[in-house]
Amino acid sequence: MIQMLGTEFVHFYLLEEDGEVTLVDAGLSGYRDTLDPSLAAAGRSLADVKAIVLTHADPDHVGFAGELQRSHGIPVYVHRADSERTREGKTKRSEGSPRDMLGMLRHAHARRALRHMVAKGGAKQAKVAEVIPFDDGDELDVPGRLRAIHTPGHTDGHVVLHAPSHDALFVGDAVNNVHIVTGARGAHVAPTAANVSTDQAYESLGRLEGLAAGTLYFGHGDPSTAGPRAVVAEARARR
Ligand SMILES: [Zn+2]
Repeated sequence: MIQMLGTEFVHFYLLEEDGEVTLVDAGLSGYRDTLDPSLAAAGRSLADVKAIVLTHADPDHVGFAGELQRSHGIPVYVHRADSERTREGKTKRSEGSPRDMLGMLRHAHARRALRHMVAKGGAKQAKVAEVIPFDDGDELDVPGRLRAIHTPGHTDGHVVLHAPSHDALFVGDAVNNVHIVTGARGAHVAPTAANVSTDQAYESLGRLEGLAAGTLYFGHGDPSTAGPRAVVAEARARR
């Protein structure tokens, strides 16, 4: 069972298998209060959460992972190349200029999203004291047995997480199913100002297009049942 959590701006996911839960990403830190009611609605509690697996180290995905680890000792998994950022709470160095960033704020959607993110703690890069680093191709020993596929570009250690037994692919921000600046719907690679390398982000799309997954779950934008190949083609066509 997969449940989408979060808001119209940021999604994270509850993946349940045999009564145990993996959180895929941990939203924004201000979403912590929404977790217990969401678990209760799924008939579960915090005691059932066995792992948090991060698609990457950005603050709208690390969210309350560190807080939950401190309070409940839940292990946090992240790709090796994003592990230092996750532990030390470092902000990423994106390739966009400050002017690109300001340009984004001409759009009402971007201003709304930014206001929301700041209000929910997204301006601060939260730290996770201890992380379990993984590498490309690893199958994680967590509920749902996620397999990590390294898709760098948005961050150095970005991954998509494949759950074959759930016919699901968690794509994080390898592709967004909304334009995060204009709010336009559909598959888009994040804008340059949000990536460490936009060229690499487009290259990484090739790593997920051949995967078998009935549903794609995004960090931003609605889930899609179009399949990885169609979603990737759509994102490439918008370049
Ligand atoms: Zn994001």
